[in-house]
Amino acid sequence: MKDTTAYKSVLEAEKIRLEEELSTVGRRNPSNPADWEALPSETGLEADPSDTADQIDGYETNTAILKDLETRYNEVLGALTRIETGTYGICSVSGEEIEDDRLAADPAANTCKAHLTS
Ligand SMILES: [Zn+2]
Repeated sequence: MKDTTAYKSVLEAEKIRLEEELSTVGRRNPSNPADWEALPSETGLEADPSDTADQIDGYETNTAILKDLETRYNEVLGALTRIETGTYGICSVSGEEIEDDRLAADPAANTCKAHLTS
């Protein structure tokens, strides 16, 4: 079995960083802590209060950023769960061990190089 100590500390640090970033563009859904909702972005001081187009753009930007962060956050959480359950470093497609250099590049990876999806 893989020594996951180093990966776990990297993943936990990334989890904390992602939570900080998520909290700048969104807030946790009170009824579902795994879900995050986008916040309207701060509008600049020069923005015309009657101009709602800027606010809508800001909201859409936050939604896009939030979605990326949330995807990554869930990958990191998934990897931490696999460490707890002893299935970390196993390709979810082939069941083979994931290469060490692949995990070094992305500790949240859940597929080997042959089954890279994105
Ligand atoms: Zn594979």
